[in-house]
Amino acid sequence: MKTRPQLTMNSRTEQRIALISVHGDPAIEIGKEEAGGQNVYVRHVGEALAQQGWQVDMFTRKVSPEQNTIVQHSDNCRTIRLEAGAVEFVPRDELFAHLPEFVDHFLEFQKENRIIYPLVHTNYWLSSWVGMQLKEIQGSKQVHTYHSLGAVKYNTVKTIPLIASTRLAVEKQVLETAERIIATSPQEKEHMRSLVSSKGNIDIIPCGTDIKQFGKVNRQEARTHLGIDLETKLVLYVGRFDPRKGIETLVRAVGESKFRESGKLQLIIGGGSRPGHSDGIERERIETIVADLGMSHFTTFPGRITQEELPYYYAAADVCVVPSHYEPFGLVAIEAMASGTPVIASDVGGLQFTVVPEETGLLAPPQDVAAFTAAIDSILSNPEWRAQLGKAGRKRIETQFSWDGVACQLSNLYTQLLQPIVQQPILQLSS
Ligand code: UDP
Repeated sequence: MKTRPQLTMNSRTEQRIALISVHGDPAIEIGKEEAGGQNVYVRHVGEALAQQGWQVDMFTRKVSPEQNTIVQHSDNCRTIRLEAGAVEFVPRDELFAHLPEFVDHFLEFQKENRIIYPLVHTNYWLSSWVGMQLKEIQGSKQVHTYHSLGAVKYNTVKTIPLIASTRLAVEKQVLETAERIIATSPQEKEHMRSLVSSKGNIDIIPCGTDIKQFGKVNRQEARTHLGIDLETKLVLYVGRFDPRKGIETLVRAVGESKFRESGKLQLIIGGGSRPGHSDGIERERIETIVADLGMSHFTTFPGRITQEELPYYYAAADVCVVPSHYEPFGLVAIEAMASGTPVIASDVGGLQFTVVPEETGLLAPPQDVAAFTAAIDSILSNPEWRAQLGKAGRKRIETQFSWDGVACQLSNLYTQLLQPIVQQPILQLSS
């Protein structure tokens, strides 16, 4: 690592904050391999905070020479891409070694632009390490959102990566040293306390969603737009192709549905790249299972669905299924509910917080094919109940999970942390 520049705080930087998301580029297309909830969270939080008056710079890693170094989202909000290692895609488990270079380029950027960030909000454990360096070097305050906890994740995967022990140590250190940790659900906070450390300051501020975008069309308009008739029983999955997402459970559950032989069942598995482009082993594996179960004629893989098109898919669906083995929050669930569609989700993590069973959808044990089949069939069998669940879901999201509301809570927290410490006069007690 190069010698670090010595910087001092000055007053013109007070409203400036850095969101750091080393591997989750907020300006990239969402839904591709390794681009999911974190990218959406950082971009929306950044844009909403800028609207509330903050100067927001979002730092990420440059992965291709064709990418612009700076992407301006609005007057006060931009993405800045720094180099760290070769300018190409590197899987997140291999990024740790490149972080010192990321820190160096961050410091150079500050120096060249005569900026210093008094507060950094870091995302995922890799960025938390960057934030801890900045705290040490220049005293930046640190707010951190995990997005995923190694201690939980490693319980749900078969092969533990080499980086695991480093990740666990970094996650513990940031919990104990950051000014504030954001848990996106009470379940995530509980995991931090029981699996990581009893020390550190945790606030619960959920993830949000765009309640104008999701909910902009009704079921009928959405089906006309997508060319799906009103009689079809439509089951939807949206998300990345990753074994942790449990798509296999959904496919097998739909394969057992009592509506299978009706000729009216349709399964849409959205996400990943366009048809014809491979995006990894998981996509191919799922396509093989669909073919082996004889489900190809009623299953479609539209590839990545843009955020503009997604509201149509959610609104058209009878039910949206989130079958993850584990999910720290799960944006897809709140997007579907905002669109008035009931959610059937695994009874894990943040999904236990967002989905209220029997009120906005149903929860089933993860990987339990029979339970998912029963849940799907019960909602598909009862259109009136489906409509009721959908309506209650929309209400829940409007009142608790809008991006503006989330950004407002974060803004209050930053303001509180950036407040200068007022020296209390020492009272002289006369005897
Ligand atoms: N997404 C998308 N198009 C797709 C698939 C996913 O825009 O084809 C978005 C989706 O709307 C959601 C995000 O990717 O905002 C996935 O976030 P989630 O928290 O559900 O899962 P993660 O990817 O973080 O595991």
